[in-house]
Amino acid sequence: MRTRLFAALALVTLSAVAHGQTPATPAPKMTPKSPMPALAQQAQQVQQSSIVIDTHADTPQRFVDEHFDLADPLGAGNLNLDSIHKGNLGAEFFSIWVDPVANKGRFAGRTFDLIDAVKQQVAKHHDQIVFVTSPEGIEQAHREHKFAALMGIEGGHSIEDSLPLLRQYYALGVRYMTLTWSNSNSWADSSGDINDTSIPHSKEGLTEFGKDVVYEMNRLGMMVDISHVSDRTFFRTLVITRAPVIASHSNARALCDAPRNMTDDMLRAVANSGGPDSKGGVIDVNFYSGFVSQAYRNADKAQQPEQDKAVADLKAKNKAEGKETPQSEIDKLSRTFGDRIPRPPLSMLIDHIDHIAKVAGIDHVGLGSDFDGVDGQLPEGLDSPADLPKITEALMARGYSAEDCRKILGGNLLRVFHEVEAVSKELQAESRPRITDKQPFDKPQK
Ligand SMILES: [Zn+2]
Repeated sequence: MRTRLFAALALVTLSAVAHGQTPATPAPKMTPKSPMPALAQQAQQVQQSSIVIDTHADTPQRFVDEHFDLADPLGAGNLNLDSIHKGNLGAEFFSIWVDPVANKGRFAGRTFDLIDAVKQQVAKHHDQIVFVTSPEGIEQAHREHKFAALMGIEGGHSIEDSLPLLRQYYALGVRYMTLTWSNSNSWADSSGDINDTSIPHSKEGLTEFGKDVVYEMNRLGMMVDISHVSDRTFFRTLVITRAPVIASHSNARALCDAPRNMTDDMLRAVANSGGPDSKGGVIDVNFYSGFVSQAYRNADKAQQPEQDKAVADLKAKNKAEGKETPQSEIDKLSRTFGDRIPRPPLSMLIDHIDHIAKVAGIDHVGLGSDFDGVDGQLPEGLDSPADLPKITEALMARGYSAEDCRKILGGNLLRVFHEVEAVSKELQAESRPRITDKQPFDKPQK
């Protein structure tokens, strides 16, 4: 893995040099002869002095299923303490994702396991990591040169249709929730199964209870994350949310036509989300090759039948031996298929950032890597947080200023997080909550 990583690093350095000479967007301050080392140095300075925030990494599953420790070498993964320090990653939102098939009947149980695993890692490495639950916490950690660990739930099924559970997750420190993962739940629809007629979907994208969930998230101060939801659920959520929303790990559909990616209208809607005085939400770009590159996506689609058959064969073989097939084994097999397709160049990821910055505005784009959630299917040379400075350098090569980069690297997310907290305080001061759902503590009706 290390050899492969270094080979990839060498490759991207070459492509970055080439890129500096022919930027896709004219960069006013750059000339073809500008020495790259100076730019690299400048980018390094920006990276080292910025609060760098990534809104999505699936590492908690590694903590639980592989007994992975953040002090371990990366192995087949993307995120550890060494790479965090190298790339000056300041804060990570660890994704609390519960596989809805493997954990049927115990969504909450698995959610608690993953939350606990994050906290155990923080406790173990308290000299380097601090668990935080607020934008001020992130800023404080930055001042103390510590890495801030936060949590976001990926998939509304984790709340098991219960607002009390949602509130307890908040109490444990969860600060965002994607309303769905790839599966629709009983109150919100997912882009992942919206065309599957065997699955019930709500007519409006959100049920009455779904609207209560959004309201309660606004009231608690939990960021509403619209990554993964269906387009209808997206627009319904945007109509009712009182706080700006985030897309913790989504890209531009104009550049890569994945149902999980966002149309230009959706990008603009996120930028305009929240109340009339809101400064708007943020779209954090996903590094997954299948959401970055149309060519990768097409190649992946073309080999899908073969891959499905290989997975079915593996399961059948294990079953014949009386064994279940663990997800890690399926992932390993899937990875061999993904590895057959050439990795997209880093410049394609920068294209997404650039597109979102142009369509939604520079104040509405950030980073949501999806590290440890995409079987290593990432653009060339982007294997861990240690490679994040390459993004900064590529942006600067396109003419993005240091201030622009600071916004993209984390400033925008911090602004939204602050605003979500302010809206929460306002709503908590209101006397009549919107909740229509009957609460366990409600007095029985006479
Ligand atoms: Zn996801």
